[in-house]
Amino acid sequence: MLSSTIVQKFGGSSVADAEKFRLCAQHALAARRRGQRVVIVVSAMGDATDDLIELAEKAMPQPDRRELDQLLATGEQVSIAMMALTLKGLGVPAISLTGQQAAIRTDNVHGRASIQSIDSARLNTLLDAGQVAVVAGFQGVSPSGDVTTLGRGGSDTTAVALAATLGGACEIYKDVDGVYTADPRLVPAAKRLPRVRYDEMLEAAALGSQVLHPRAVEMAKRFGVPVRVVHSHLHDPEDLAGGTWIVGETDPMEARAVANVVLKKNVGRISLRGVNNIAGVQARVFGPLAERSLPIDDIIQEDDGPGTINLTWTMDKKDLLEAAPIVQNVAGAVRAQSLRIDGVEVGSGLVTLSAVGAGMRTTPGVAAKMFEALAQEGIRVENITTSEIRISCVLAESDGARAAKCVHAAFGLG
Ligand code: ASP
Ligand code: MG
Repeated sequence: MLSSTIVQKFGGSSVADAEKFRLCAQHALAARRRGQRVVIVVSAMGDATDDLIELAEKAMPQPDRRELDQLLATGEQVSIAMMALTLKGLGVPAISLTGQQAAIRTDNVHGRASIQSIDSARLNTLLDAGQVAVVAGFQGVSPSGDVTTLGRGGSDTTAVALAATLGGACEIYKDVDGVYTADPRLVPAAKRLPRVRYDEMLEAAALGSQVLHPRAVEMAKRFGVPVRVVHSHLHDPEDLAGGTWIVGETDPMEARAVANVVLKKNVGRISLRGVNNIAGVQARVFGPLAERSLPIDDIIQEDDGPGTINLTWTMDKKDLLEAAPIVQNVAGAVRAQSLRIDGVEVGSGLVTLSAVGAGMRTTPGVAAKMFEALAQEGIRVENITTSEIRISCVLAESDGARAAKCVHAAFGLG
């Protein structure tokens, strides 16, 4: 009887060609040698998902979401078959499973589905029989039996959900060897963090740090799943210490005000100017966006004369196209009731630079230090928002990289 369970997830760049599948398989072999039950979750090979989206857009500029899910799910289906074949080629018993075959049940929000439950009966039977179960990331099955996808980068969520269901740990294999104090491509002085807290990762992920899918971190935190981020090919399969562990608590000795600096690109912004601040006006604006599951980043409300406010929020640039007409509609409806919304502005070309750290709760002066660093570089701040453990500044896109470097240096992270 095999003891503990490990879910190993490999991202698209880790399985970009046949040789890379073989390298990834070494990690499964090592875990088997340690006597673990092994589940592998794979993403689509290389840029397969992007290529499929491009293909769909040639058929229909804003592809029907159900059909797009049907198409995108094929990317992961190629990968699971390739991984199972690779393992079998190495003499390891393995079986590939689509989201549906692995009984990953989601709601029916195509393109952004949420996992509702996983029936682990079949998986447990396979694992106990010594098979490596290779499960397609990023996909599930809706109540009506249709293929759904979980949103870009959703394979991480599949992996953590499986680890939670099976009571195991989760390893995320990527083309980076862990979580860094900043994106090293942007800030060469960035360093790897051996341990990061769930809540720090949650802020970073929500901000678009590409390391982990936000829902995956949320789920890891909720179910207490230990997650390790490691490099898929540079990391020695026998080494259990490398990478970054994402955990509930870190050593208080390691505590610092700012753990990392995250630059979110492709930020869009919508502003409503001169809004009559009657009770319920915010609900009327954001309700229809929520109905379409359009994620909002930060909301700023400011006074604009007596009884009047400006309402500004940021969201992914890619969601602007869908959000803008909805907001225009709301504005029209409000005006039709002889209430005011003077103007709707839609803008892009922005980035959000954030400093994140659990130690911020107890360290004063963090915001001032960040503003000081930006001021010295002559960088204009367009908007500011904060949470208990995060300070975010919206900046012009062209200032992004320079801002990341100077803030990273100001907090001594290099
Ligand atoms: N293949 C999907 C994507 O590229 C899912 C994933 O990689 O996690 O977004
Ligand atoms: Mg991918």
